Amino acid sequence: KKENGGVQKEEQASEASEEQPDYATPAEASLLLKMIRKTLEDSKCDLDIQRKDPTSPLYSVKSFEELHLKPGLLKGVYSMGYNTPSKIQESALPNLLADPPQNMIAQSQSGTGKTAAFVLAMLSRVDTSQNYTQVVCISPTYELAIQTGEIAAKMAQFCQDIKLKYAVRGEEVARGTTITDHIIIGTPGKIMDWGCKLKLFDLSKIRVFVLDEADVMINQQGHRDQCIKIHKMVPKTCQMMFFSATYEKEVMDFAQYIVPNALSIRLKREQESLDNIKQYYIKCRNQDEKYTAVQNIYGGITIGQAILFCHTRRTATWLAGKMAKDGHAVGILNGDLTVEQRLAVLDRFRSGQQRVLVTTNVLSRGIDVEAVTIVVNFDLPLDQNGQADCETYLHRIGRTGRFGKNGIAINLVDSDKSMDVCRQIEQHFGRTIEFLDTDDADQVE
Ligand code: ADP
Repeated sequence: KKENGGVQKEEQASEASEEQPDYATPAEASLLLKMIRKTLEDSKCDLDIQRKDPTSPLYSVKSFEELHLKPGLLKGVYSMGYNTPSKIQESALPNLLADPPQNMIAQSQSGTGKTAAFVLAMLSRVDTSQNYTQVVCISPTYELAIQTGEIAAKMAQFCQDIKLKYAVRGEEVARGTTITDHIIIGTPGKIMDWGCKLKLFDLSKIRVFVLDEADVMINQQGHRDQCIKIHKMVPKTCQMMFFSATYEKEVMDFAQYIVPNALSIRLKREQESLDNIKQYYIKCRNQDEKYTAVQNIYGGITIGQAILFCHTRRTATWLAGKMAKDGHAVGILNGDLTVEQRLAVLDRFRSGQQRVLVTTNVLSRGIDVEAVTIVVNFDLPLDQNGQADCETYLHRIGRTGRFGKNGIAINLVDSDKSMDVCRQIEQHFGRTIEFLDTDDADQVE
């Protein structure tokens, strides 16, 4: 699916997966979020900063000038349209650039400026009079490594003497050669191959070691061990940076292990809430009645857009197909699509060409399309044990303070089981989910 749009996927496997709950892997979800976010998340939350040595000074800046960057880098930053440092950059950057170098663990949600921060730190630390690899940055997947590399290339556009190399599949270097590029960005396997096995560059000369998307990384079997192996070969004095969008204990234990004595910066997530959302349920007897309900709802909205969530790809495909046949401009986004296709769908939806988006859990968070007024759970979200998945429910219909406009969520209930799930969700959040009589269209206002 990822490599060639599913051409090689066996028919049977594809048949089976259509019936499975459609989730994105952490790496896919992260990449999609990255590509969706064209602007900075403007966080109102406070930073939580912890350091091993409370006597060491803590810096913070309100402008990029204060960082005393190389002129070319400052020019690069401005040319990317960055005027002032983001919340996390205010504290992360001066400390990352300070001498002696400090180790850092930084955690904040996607889109808050972590990548830009560590890329700038990496570029600043390069000594271009020396032609050997000085910086290693490990990313969990090919796509994410390329994304980071592209940011680095843009930021370094006025510093042509800084050389960057990708260590990802498809990149080959002849045995026996020595890599002279200053920065290597790549996936753990390839970096281990080049650094530990083939010795194409000297890990003992690395000065900056970056682990990006560490939470995604440790989700993938084997990656954690590869990172540890690479980490063992870089000097103890090397500056280590660790970035994550989540703050689970597992991730933080790994962080403490890889990055000792680090300054830890954490930006709390702005919580989604159900405060401004009216929640309803509609009783249906079967899938066809669910479709009728959707038609009634859809006929009822004159402004704004709707997102419809289904459990499986099959249902999503069926629903979108049926709506399209009935003459509606509807987009579909599920796990069958490549990243490019997903983005194209989102673009069409965002621009308003399509007022309805049918999707699965591939897209349960991060869309923040302000115009969305109605979210329909064509299928209620279930966890692996078939119980109510309240977290996913919140991600589907919740809004953050910024997008706090009123919204409507409608749950289609087609069995005792799903009625039960609906009740579980109601109890969990302590908010009533009202019965909606579809004959009484005025109720949805
Ligand atoms: P993260 O790594 O936390 O997901 P990024 O560094 O990718 O966040 O930044 C998210 C988006 O915001 C990107 O499009 C990036 O170009 C932009 N961005 C980052 N820092 C700034 C800044 N200081 N000012 C304006 N835009 C920024």
